[in-house]
Amino acid sequence: AAKGAGRNRFSYFTPALQVAALNRMRLTNDLRGALKGNQFKLYFQPIVHLATGRIHKAEALIRWEHPQRGLVSPLEFIPLAEASGLVVAIGEWVFHESARWVQHWRREVDPDFQVSINQSPLEFQREGASYANWLRTLQQLGLPGQSLVVEITEGLLLDASSTVTDKLLQLRDAGIQVALDDFGTGYSSLSYLKKFDIDYLKIDRSFTRNLAPESSDMALSDAIIVMAHKLDLKVIAEGVETAEQRDLLAAAGCDYGQGYLFARPLPAADFDTLLKTQA
Ligand code: C2E
Ligand code: MG
Ligand code: MG
Ligand code: MG
Repeated sequence: AAKGAGRNRFSYFTPALQVAALNRMRLTNDLRGALKGNQFKLYFQPIVHLATGRIHKAEALIRWEHPQRGLVSPLEFIPLAEASGLVVAIGEWVFHESARWVQHWRREVDPDFQVSINQSPLEFQREGASYANWLRTLQQLGLPGQSLVVEITEGLLLDASSTVTDKLLQLRDAGIQVALDDFGTGYSSLSYLKKFDIDYLKIDRSFTRNLAPESSDMALSDAIIVMAHKLDLKVIAEGVETAEQRDLLAAAGCDYGQGYLFARPLPAADFDTLLKTQA
């Protein structure tokens, strides 16, 4: 029986899995040198105020330019960065880079401009870490907390641990705003929206994709927007790709839109040009 079980166990380890595991190991290894090698680039995607069509904010999205493989998606390397702990150093880099750019845009273009940064659950839940040094850096740059928005996923709010509550309080004390990313895809308990101090809901792309008058995704989006506004939250729709989607969302009272209709994520210098053209 033991022999049989052993054989069974081995049968799961097919060559394809071996290749995938090896690939992950190699990528993780390369990831260790990526920061020092200046292989990360920060892209920015506009977040557009739907009523006026103006860019009020941008989401910072990391890119990895691997010297051999070319562009590697964050969907592929962020999980590896989390598993290896490298995500902490990467997150610090994203913060510093974002702070530098938001300082520039606040000075040159719009004194209220905000940059939104993604934090993976592991970064956010890390014990002992605090936002105190972020606040120090912002102060050194002459920036208020409101220059930044931190995007977290709704699943975090189900974690009743004091770390999460503590982190959210730290952000609020620093004046940094909080957005719930990919809203509607995870386990969300609506009561958490009241309990925690959240500023923005980002309606997940999967709702935006099939928006049409009278559709069930339209009904859901409508309901999310009404509820959010009653709770004093602003709504950002992700994945806006068509003018029809934009118009339906605007008619439903959605505050902001983000998506390929407005612009793809752009290298910082290109985003800078776009923003200055608008101004
Ligand atoms: P996210 O935070 O939900 O970011 C939105 C994703 O949707 C981005 O993918 C963006 O390029 C894509 N997107 C924007 N507009 C459209 C559209 O109209 N249509 C479609 N099909 N897609 C659109 P990206 O840049 O590949 O990032 C994927 C995810 O990786 C992000 O999802 C976020 O969870 C994570 N991520 C990105 N940058 C960072 C980072 O600096 N730190 C951490 N921890 N995670 C990051
Ligand atoms: Mg995000
Ligand atoms: Mg999102
Ligand atoms: Mg997402």
